[in-house]
Amino acid sequence: MEPLYTDIVLPLAQEAFSYRVGEALRNSITEGRCVKVQLGHSKLYTGIVWRLHDRKPPYKTIKEVDSYVENAPMLSPLQMRFWEWLAEYYMCTLGEVMRAALPSALKPEGFSAEEFARDMFRPRSVQYVRLHPDLHGTEALNDTFESLKRATKQYAALVELVANLPEERLFEAEILRSQLSAETPILQALVKKKIILLEARELAAGELPPLPERLPALTPAQTRAMQEIGQGFATHEVVLLHGVTGSGKTEIYIRLIDQQLRQGRNVLYLLPEIAMTSQLVERIRSYFGERVIPYHSRFPERTRVERYLRANRSRGGELILGVRSSLFLPINDLGLVIVDEEHDTSYKQTDTAPRYQARDCAVVLARLAGAKTLLGSATPSLESWANATEGKYGLVSLTERYGGALLPQMIISDTMRAVQRGERNVHFNKALTDRIAAALTAGEQVMLFQNRRGFSPYVECGTCGWVASCPHCNVTLTFHKADGMLRCHYCGYALPLPPRCPACGQGAVESRGFGTEKVEEEITRLFPSARIARLDRDTMQNPSKFRAIITAFTRHESDILVGTQIITKGFDFGGVSLVGILNADNLLNYPDFRAAERAFQLMVQAAGRAGRRQRQGEVVIQTSMPEHPLIRQVAAGDYLAMARRQLAERSAFFYPPYCRMVGILLRHRDKMLLWRAANRLGDDLRGIFGRRLLGPQPPPVDRIREEFLVTFLLKVERSRSFAQAKVLLAEAIARLHGKAEFRSVTVVCNVDPQ
Ligand code: ADP
Ligand code: ZN
Ligand code: ZN
Repeated sequence: MEPLYTDIVLPLAQEAFSYRVGEALRNSITEGRCVKVQLGHSKLYTGIVWRLHDRKPPYKTIKEVDSYVENAPMLSPLQMRFWEWLAEYYMCTLGEVMRAALPSALKPEGFSAEEFARDMFRPRSVQYVRLHPDLHGTEALNDTFESLKRATKQYAALVELVANLPEERLFEAEILRSQLSAETPILQALVKKKIILLEARELAAGELPPLPERLPALTPAQTRAMQEIGQGFATHEVVLLHGVTGSGKTEIYIRLIDQQLRQGRNVLYLLPEIAMTSQLVERIRSYFGERVIPYHSRFPERTRVERYLRANRSRGGELILGVRSSLFLPINDLGLVIVDEEHDTSYKQTDTAPRYQARDCAVVLARLAGAKTLLGSATPSLESWANATEGKYGLVSLTERYGGALLPQMIISDTMRAVQRGERNVHFNKALTDRIAAALTAGEQVMLFQNRRGFSPYVECGTCGWVASCPHCNVTLTFHKADGMLRCHYCGYALPLPPRCPACGQGAVESRGFGTEKVEEEITRLFPSARIARLDRDTMQNPSKFRAIITAFTRHESDILVGTQIITKGFDFGGVSLVGILNADNLLNYPDFRAAERAFQLMVQAAGRAGRRQRQGEVVIQTSMPEHPLIRQVAAGDYLAMARRQLAERSAFFYPPYCRMVGILLRHRDKMLLWRAANRLGDDLRGIFGRRLLGPQPPPVDRIREEFLVTFLLKVERSRSFAQAKVLLAEAIARLHGKAEFRSVTVVCNVDPQ
């Protein structure tokens, strides 16, 4: 039977649209193909043929689909199933998944056919040169040379071509045009005389380089871990590798990758941050060379499309190394997915749909593909830890550092005591400054971690107490001294620091609290001869600057690196002997059920940067709560104690992993209307979910970019169907939007919020 109708997914936050299959496509159309379709009167979109069927849709006019999008590969059944899972699990449309999954040149759109075509990807073609097929045999070739005696340039060009062609396949082989020095008119003259052929074609995929002959020799502990991972995979789809910082998890990944590539399978290696990829790509490339395909959003569009297509063509033996969006690459023959630093919150996309957690998606993708997943971390997320200890995942531990390196010595420095004894210099306790001085004298490097960027969290008038805040959001502005600006970290609004208080007109504006910029300034004052660099989101805006800072620090061209959590992430700096955590208190006081877990992860990861090679490093943690159980657990490096205690609390207070959650956010410019909508939705949901619903409640920052915000939290027992709860939730939201009054209220669901 020929398919008459098709449901087509468009890159929109809407359900699929139905079209009639045009005569021209009847024989060739299949599910997963990209087609060019019209929506409304003028807009052309790339759509994906999701279902073919013969049910006439109930519209008056049914549009027809009659052409494919050139050069767009079709989705595999695996990709389609994965997208369907994503849309259902994360409560979004397939169109929203499509928007995130396909690079824009593979889903062109436009208001006219020309615009659509302009957007479309065209493969780069290159020219190939060969001898003309009429010309075979040495004799014919000699005659040709003879005939060119006068045309010296053509003669020279032919000599060059023949010299570059392989001798045994002189008359069949071809070479790249770019290998010849001859000018184009000369070559064209030879083409005219039927001596050579010039052909433009897509660049042929290069041969994959051979697999490495030698891999790093594993230590006995690493060898044992390798064996246990193998055993774990025999009985589990997922294995969690809990290996302390510097234990050589990467070395183990390299082995596992090699095993897969040798079997002709592909591997996906996920990292949480773009910033970390370049260091790792270099390290991995030294083994697998061109088999490595790096992927992230900072690559130019064309590069991304080319890598997408390369993954699509891959016949195995390749490694895709990238950030969370790499999940959407069309990877065939997937054998293994590695999720490095699996605890990292950057794996969760929160701003736009699909609001997915890449670690969890990796597990699902691997399952659909019949592959295995390895999660690795020194400080696993409690979700993964619970899965491992409950036996759902395999668990492998690596407790010693490579090369006998010792874990750093932890020094808890009591800030209150330091103040009482007059041993605190602005934000630094003597315990820390003494050690910085010692490290610098010994020619070693120091990292200072402060969880806030900017100069100070806010500025205040010393006279009337006025605080600078954002006119569009309900937050204070952060002072950035480098350019003298006050900035909103939510919407980007900025204004110059006023010289006098704008409220009372008299007071001086003073800064309160401190951020990375301030730390940098103070440390410069304390250690004027040290070379100091700073790394935070402000410096990360500029990728090349960011890379330059990392490289300089790696080469010991700077002595002290000040930064936010970005510096705690997986970097391997050999010369760091001291890590200072300037304020552990604000990590612990964060109002979130995950605060303790996060604080532990951050501090242990930060500590992990110290003393990686020969010498034992030191970590100084400044806190006013030295007896806090979490500080004790960090000091002892006792992940198990932290996990046990935190999981007990989560269980007692009914939080993940003992329940599932959906965060619900309502937004509108009109505060009254917003709250009416929130109350209505709240009543409706409470009727269904009872005490499983928390809220409505204004979030800590309750206004962003002129819109007011209200939140709910839905907690569902693990014994209940989460899928069913989400369906009921979606229906309640649809009922709310069914009321004309509330149609303009934005409602966002965030499944598994972090
Ligand atoms: P992790 O990711 O577990 O924190 P890494 O994989 O970065 O640890 O390893 C820490 C350091 O030890 C790296 O410099 C790495 O090159 C080195 N290393 C680890 N295992 C080996 C090994 N088997 N052979 C050589 N060097 C190793
Ligand atoms: Zn004032
Ligand atoms: Zn703002």
